Amino acid sequence: MTELFKIRVTGALQDVGFRAFIYRLAKELRLTGFVQNSSASVTIEIEGKDKRLKQFLYRLQMEKPTFAAIYSLDYSVHDAKDYKEFKILHSENTGRKTEALSPDIGICNDCLKELFDLHNRRYRYPFTHCIHCGPRFSIINDIPYDRMNTSMKAFQMCPNCHREYDNPNDKRFHDQVNSCPICGPHMELWNAKGEVLSAYNNAIAQAAEAILNGEIIAFKDLGGFKFLANARNEIAVGKLRTRKQKTEKPFALMYPSLQMVKKQFYVSLPEKRLLLSPAAPIVLLERKRGNKLIAENIAPGNPYLGIMLPSTSLQHLLMNELNIPVALSGGNLGSEPICIDEFEAIKHLQNVADLFLVHNLPVARPVDDSVVRMVSGREQILHRAKAYNALPIHINNPAPPMLATGTHSKNILAIRTDKEIFMSQFTGDLETERTYFDFKKGINDIRNLYKVEPEKLICDLDPKFLSRKYANELGNDVIPVQHHYAHVLSCMLDNELEGQVLGVSWDGTGYGTNGAIGGSEFLLTKLDGFERVGHFREFHLPGGEEIARQPRRSALGILYEIFGETVFEKKDLISIQSFSSEELSAIKEILKKKNPSQVACGIGKLFDAVSSLIGLRQVATFQSQAARELEFAINKRSKNFYPFEIGIERPHVINWQPMILAIINDVSKKVNEGYIAVKFHNTLAEIIVKMADKINEQRVVLTGDCFQNKYLTERTVLCLRKEGFQPYWHQRIPTNDEGISAGQLMNIFYADIIKIFSEEGQRIGKICVNGVFKNISLTMLPDAKEGERVLIRDGVPVIKPLSDKKENTQYFR
Ligand SMILES: [Zn+2]
Ligand SMILES: [Zn+2]
Repeated sequence: MTELFKIRVTGALQDVGFRAFIYRLAKELRLTGFVQNSSASVTIEIEGKDKRLKQFLYRLQMEKPTFAAIYSLDYSVHDAKDYKEFKILHSENTGRKTEALSPDIGICNDCLKELFDLHNRRYRYPFTHCIHCGPRFSIINDIPYDRMNTSMKAFQMCPNCHREYDNPNDKRFHDQVNSCPICGPHMELWNAKGEVLSAYNNAIAQAAEAILNGEIIAFKDLGGFKFLANARNEIAVGKLRTRKQKTEKPFALMYPSLQMVKKQFYVSLPEKRLLLSPAAPIVLLERKRGNKLIAENIAPGNPYLGIMLPSTSLQHLLMNELNIPVALSGGNLGSEPICIDEFEAIKHLQNVADLFLVHNLPVARPVDDSVVRMVSGREQILHRAKAYNALPIHINNPAPPMLATGTHSKNILAIRTDKEIFMSQFTGDLETERTYFDFKKGINDIRNLYKVEPEKLICDLDPKFLSRKYANELGNDVIPVQHHYAHVLSCMLDNELEGQVLGVSWDGTGYGTNGAIGGSEFLLTKLDGFERVGHFREFHLPGGEEIARQPRRSALGILYEIFGETVFEKKDLISIQSFSSEELSAIKEILKKKNPSQVACGIGKLFDAVSSLIGLRQVATFQSQAARELEFAINKRSKNFYPFEIGIERPHVINWQPMILAIINDVSKKVNEGYIAVKFHNTLAEIIVKMADKINEQRVVLTGDCFQNKYLTERTVLCLRKEGFQPYWHQRIPTNDEGISAGQLMNIFYADIIKIFSEEGQRIGKICVNGVFKNISLTMLPDAKEGERVLIRDGVPVIKPLSDKKENTQYFR
């Protein structure tokens, strides 16, 4: 399949033969497109067969010219433009002159050699890096990037370091954060009381020994704390689980070497590139059967594990001592942000960790590890954190500065400058005092870092959400955006789509425009508005808080909708059997009331219900556990699917009843649960194809939590393509709620009024949006003049022209 990769590389790439190298590589692989320098990066658009493009990307990273250094590489896949040849284009000097913030960069090969060279003065120095590698984003407090604006300001360079800093031929020439064992930060190992047990390299050696002996270490990495446990020791992993109250959620693993990873996991070329990339994310890899070299309780029943390789000097030193994989878990409690300060960690994390491996280099903001996986042959970022959160997402249409506060769960903020969107670090679920505090701190941080004074504030529609409440506190002219619509917009942004698409926005919940909870939305979407053209049949959920934890309650809600009260007599159903008779009579009372606030139609709840009906999971220990297990239960290839009905009128209501009845029938006939699971997934894919057909929209955008499901996404993409539709899914912006804030920023846009005229007695303004001319009614804006800029929301100009700045300056007093 012919595709187009849009690649953006930053680093030391000028005057090192980088463009010529790209040209030769493209020619060799018979790819077309162009390479172009701009002030801050190198842009490559490259087109050809998918397999060759992946080789191109891998070789770009691995075979780059000796003196070229890559700080970041991000790319996305698009529809081919049919380039005929490969060209080097003239440099483009537009764009921001100021150097964009650099992400933390994995250690370069040169520095790695120094680290283990007995005769080097940085031998085993845990903060070894050079001008081309090491921490940036996690230690910068303000721009420009000078030592005084970073955490290194507390350390003075020694004469030797100064000499390097002043020498134009040294790789540490003008390295703002240069340091060495004499003058830089150092490591210490503390016990839970904060008493120093050992220091410098002894601290690392002793921590490694403790890990090997099954102890839990809270480790201050460059971006904040993480917990480490011996991944081969079931008792140690179990201890971490109990103490962190993570009963079954999978742990990620750090491996000492790629070699060891390859023995235990399938690693494709793109996955290998990711593991070795300067971004060094956690990559979800499929484990080989019979992989018994790690403890069973790392990720019970999960065929995919999150794997990363050491990328900082500190991680390399530690993994070198250990030489075994370690289980990783964020240094936080519950859904809070990770700890970044060692004194805070001692207080906060002492019930989890036995020992604390810390250092005295302050962390400016929490930066945890990103999570990436391959889906339908493309990279997909599931958790956008380390390395990626310092990178902008480029947009075509300029707009005034805006800030979006995201949503309630998995909160990430987003800020829009002229032609770029930046997403903040991860704040977590806005539930506790601590997360809310960090959320507010994050707003100040992102404004300060990118020097943006937002003129507009965007938030979720749900009035209960703290993200909306806070936005309201900041200013009274806040623009709320519906949750599922924001999901669709974020996926459009990710794929650079303009114009009309059919958005399939599927997740657990989300506050709808009518106040109801949605989650199975088909939204016919344009940048300036949407129409809800379809959703699944609604049903009542019995109970509030317990619903998320009890998939069986979703099953009962659906069954009640089908059978009414007779369902309580159906003792042969597994879901019913799982309740005690007291519980059942209590639930009966709840369902009888038909509480309108407990109506649901989210696909997440459907996954829960099916998982319960086939006996896979009745009570969950973490969010979306039942849905994941249903995906992992798939053990057969099949194209079969269950029957369903689609209502005739818009919005089309999709009736799951025929499917549920067929599933119950399959269960009674003892059909293999893996086969039921695959048929259920196929049914959902089939429904999407049928809806795309009904709405007659060629471009279909898949978004929301549910498309973290690899099988569902890949199956849907396959089915849509087979029927001639063009599917799009998430690549760089997470498909889950982390992506909401970026989508929120796309909801509104600004347009200049080109001409004003009258039509049938009405005042009409002509505007140009994305190259398309359209007319808007100016009834709401009687004073609007030609040449003025207006804000458009849901297709209507709603705000007075922006030239009136008075209303825009009051947000952040
Ligand atoms: Zn280096
Ligand atoms: Zn020094």
